Amino acid sequence: MKWKNDAPYVLCLSHDVDRIKKQWYHYCFYGLKHPIIQIRSLVSKLKGREPYWNFKELMELEESYGVRSTFFFLNESHKELSANFMGRYNIKSPKVMHVIKELDSRGFEIGLHGSFYSYNDEGLLKGEKDELERILGHEVISTRQHHLNFDKSKTWQIHKKIGIKYDSTMGYTDRVGSEQAVRTECGIIEIPITLMDTVALTESVYEECCNVADGGEIIMINFHQCHFNEIEYPNNIEMYKRFLSMAQENGAWITNVRELGEWLDERI
Ligand SMILES: [Zn+2]
Repeated sequence: MKWKNDAPYVLCLSHDVDRIKKQWYHYCFYGLKHPIIQIRSLVSKLKGREPYWNFKELMELEESYGVRSTFFFLNESHKELSANFMGRYNIKSPKVMHVIKELDSRGFEIGLHGSFYSYNDEGLLKGEKDELERILGHEVISTRQHHLNFDKSKTWQIHKKIGIKYDSTMGYTDRVGSEQAVRTECGIIEIPITLMDTVALTESVYEECCNVADGGEIIMINFHQCHFNEIEYPNNIEMYKRFLSMAQENGAWITNVRELGEWLDERI
């Protein structure tokens, strides 16, 4: 594949916005494993620095490289007493709507992060897309299903029916992926995740991603917005900056899901 400006490979940046506010039970749960870090995080929160609200830091970092990622916003309406549903946010709260509009106005892409059960529920996913579009005042065309929940016989068709063009759900939570973008039977462009920050971000993981780059392909990274804080996840921030610096030095095309999707749409 030939990339924009003859770039040797593509670094595609994305962030799932699963949570925006750290809850007391997160401190209890994570505190069992890393008590000192969690105490530092709590002190920082009590001083006014919300550890799960890192939009400003991400915007400023990416803008310093002259690049803009995709933020996938979740609108979880299912209620259940389990880790998958507790502590979610209200997409219609003034604070969230404000940051969505700010990201959009600064050139970042806003994508749909389909809720846990939306992968096989057209009405539910459409309602979430409509809500996000009402906030933005324009169309949303990129998506990633939360929890990477997916039914290959159904989910892409649902995306197609509700006006989604680009999906980035395929991939893994436990390793580096090497699958590349394809056009599905129903016409959706699927751009699989190469690396998600739930994987232990070791040197060998970085090298595996470099191999994808050496092959002239797409490194699609998904770093969760809530993990982008220095106290708890310094390694994530360091790794993210390494990807940006490496890509910039190599003249790679650093982009987001919509821009890459548009490029692929004309070529595959
Ligand atoms: Zn998610």
